[in-house]
Amino acid sequence: MKFNTKAIHGGQQGVDPAYNSVMPPIYQTTTYAQETPGAHKGFEYSRSGNPTRAALERSLASLENGNYGISFSSGLAAIDAVLKLLKPGDEVISTNDLYGGSYRLFTKIYKDFGINFKFIGMENTAQMEHYISDKTRLVWIETPTNPMMNIIDIKSVAIIAHKHNLLLAVDNTFATPYLQQPLELGAHIVMHSATKYLGGHSDVVMGSLIVNDKDLASRLYFIQNASGAVPGPQDCFLVLRGIKTLHVRMQRHCENGNAIAQFLKSHPKVAQVYWPGFKDHPNHNIATLQMQDYGGMVSFTTKQGTLESAFQLVSNLKVFTLAESLGGVESLAGHPATMTHASIPKEEREKIGVVDSLIRLSVGIEDIDDLIKDLEQAL
Ligand code: PLP
Repeated sequence: MKFNTKAIHGGQQGVDPAYNSVMPPIYQTTTYAQETPGAHKGFEYSRSGNPTRAALERSLASLENGNYGISFSSGLAAIDAVLKLLKPGDEVISTNDLYGGSYRLFTKIYKDFGINFKFIGMENTAQMEHYISDKTRLVWIETPTNPMMNIIDIKSVAIIAHKHNLLLAVDNTFATPYLQQPLELGAHIVMHSATKYLGGHSDVVMGSLIVNDKDLASRLYFIQNASGAVPGPQDCFLVLRGIKTLHVRMQRHCENGNAIAQFLKSHPKVAQVYWPGFKDHPNHNIATLQMQDYGGMVSFTTKQGTLESAFQLVSNLKVFTLAESLGGVESLAGHPATMTHASIPKEEREKIGVVDSLIRLSVGIEDIDDLIKDLEQAL
């Protein structure tokens, strides 16, 4: 099956047998009757498993060309489950440009449990090997990175991870499986904040992991059940519904993202635009190789360069909404330094380019003329 067909049918088992409903029903139940102890139809208790969740997990596995999907109550709960594979003393190598909440989870929670993190630039993959020690267990990457739109060569990182027997996890939230499929490039774990493009309508918080290896999947299922950060059936239904239009939404996000990136680049008040589709983006060639298109996320700085100018600009916007999050049908603008990345110390975030004048756009699927007019008047 091709991707667009999989988005609609992938992992689904035809109509629901009870009443031939075309969509999987929302099985809003905590528990399932057993005929005799242990004799049931595959579900016992909804923390351990739920048919609506199972339908979503099969769909996610199919989209990422993986064997197993495992869903969680948020993207961070999914990342948390991956870190629970580790033991005190283990080391993680992570990109230095990553979602602020992931950085906070690593440094404010897991560091205290004895896990050590090395945050490095991975745009030049060869450097990575210098940071690997006999304690390293996991490599954590995002690509495109949030919010600087750096591109990391997943295949090259995977070769190094395999050579040293390390797990490679890729946060694929920005790209979605429509644009990039990390398992195909050698990653062991794909992670999604399904809150974003997969749900696609800014109405549900959820996270997912997709893996190929049976053993790894059963360890993650164990953590999912034992720790209990599972999504409810209503939320699973919403993400499953969102996925059915992922391919058409992503196509428009990419078209609009491209147009906005070009508009900003030619605007006299804009200093820098960060978007992997530009030919002069440092890893444009890798983006072209590993992604179908360049996505709908665009970051930029203003020439004025101050916090005040960025605040004024985002407050002037009328069609774009100033809000946290991304990946919904509506266009959003964010100020990473004080919003999504506020948990990263100023010196650390400025080193990687998250300066006070940086603005991040999640370009939605509205009419492009209205979006450009809005940015024009705000600038
Ligand atoms: N990863 C990335 C790239 C994100 O942007 C986010 C949230 O913004 C997360 C992970 C965390 O996901 P959630 O907010 O669903 O917990």
